[in-house]
Amino acid sequence: MTHHDIDHPKGKGHPGAAQGGATLTANLRLVAWELTRSCNLACVHCRAAARDCPYEGELSLAECKKVMDEIAEVGKPIIILTGGEPLLRPDVFEIAEYGAKLGFRMTMATNGTLLTRETVQKMIASGIERISVSIDGADARSHDAFRKVPGAFEGALRGIGLAREANLDFQINTTITRANIKEFPKIHDLAVSLGAVAHHIFMLVPMGRGKEITEEAISAEEYEETLHWFYERRGKAPLQLKATCAPHYYRILRQRAKSEGVEINFETFGLDAVTRGCLGGIGFAFISHLGQVQPCGYLEAECGSVREKSFREIWLDSPVFQNLRDLKRYEGKCGKCEFIRVCGGCRARAYEHSGSYMAEEPLCLYKPPGSRRPRVAGLQNRRRQKTGEKEP
Ligand code: SF4
Ligand code: SF4
Repeated sequence: MTHHDIDHPKGKGHPGAAQGGATLTANLRLVAWELTRSCNLACVHCRAAARDCPYEGELSLAECKKVMDEIAEVGKPIIILTGGEPLLRPDVFEIAEYGAKLGFRMTMATNGTLLTRETVQKMIASGIERISVSIDGADARSHDAFRKVPGAFEGALRGIGLAREANLDFQINTTITRANIKEFPKIHDLAVSLGAVAHHIFMLVPMGRGKEITEEAISAEEYEETLHWFYERRGKAPLQLKATCAPHYYRILRQRAKSEGVEINFETFGLDAVTRGCLGGIGFAFISHLGQVQPCGYLEAECGSVREKSFREIWLDSPVFQNLRDLKRYEGKCGKCEFIRVCGGCRARAYEHSGSYMAEEPLCLYKPPGSRRPRVAGLQNRRRQKTGEKEP
């Protein structure tokens, strides 16, 4: 399972929202924590390229508790226990309970296949308030092809059924690629019919095993189209539909609202009016199975290890986090863009594409005034070379 967040930070005073000046105020609202890299599946897009075996050097229970004490010095974020498959860690419920006692909203990202009635009860008892389960295909054929494990779809649905039976909130996460973009509306209908509280989409960031399927990444045009579809579905879905880690959705939202003469405020757009596209290093941090802190699971820019420094020190002082908060440091067209404050571009994609996490987002079609013609994304170039498709 990928690190994908259960929910982005929200509410008033949101990081990046409606602030003046060239610096975004850090406000930790969400931590994704890769408790283990072990996983019982081998998904095509896995960021961690996780394997079904124990990994050396993972944080001990005592270290996990210490890290949570340090996080509490910074704020009371939502914590997503993720992996790998977090349920493969025997002390996962002790970790959840400790975090819940500190006042964090504890959630878990699981592939769902290992859930049993007993596990669901343990989750609830330990204070886990919501789980997320990834569904990347509308049926067993496409989901299992993605997950590379026959039976993964049935397993996930069975797990979801158990959560529903126990009244444990669950959300569905979907990673969009060329293979499933057409069936996305069907996956969405499935999420609705299953009774999910939210459906979050993610765009493939090619790293880990995702690199092997670079040609599966959707093009900038398809990305733009999907985000417009999102805009149109907004408010119509009976559950929370969120384009997570799709930063330029917040540019599209503003462009569409402006052309339709709609004012953007909490009444008209709810939390979308106050959130920012990329929250890595601003409202969000990732902790790896070895204790490395990063802006997000997809951006392996090392900010420090919780084994050497306190989480608080890393969060406040790491140069990587400070760069991400400084709007003057953004490069290329993102650096010239009037939407930088609400969007930010995906820093992980910028890094995978150019080697610099402050470079421009390669999958954005927007051309800010004063910038050069948008560069055609490397991903698209590589796909074109493979498929022989012509440049538009
Ligand atoms: S140019 Fe960069 S900041 Fe502007 S909308 Fe595109 S990705 Fe966002
Ligand atoms: S860099 Fe930002 S937008 Fe990209 S995956 Fe990480 S948190 Fe999400």
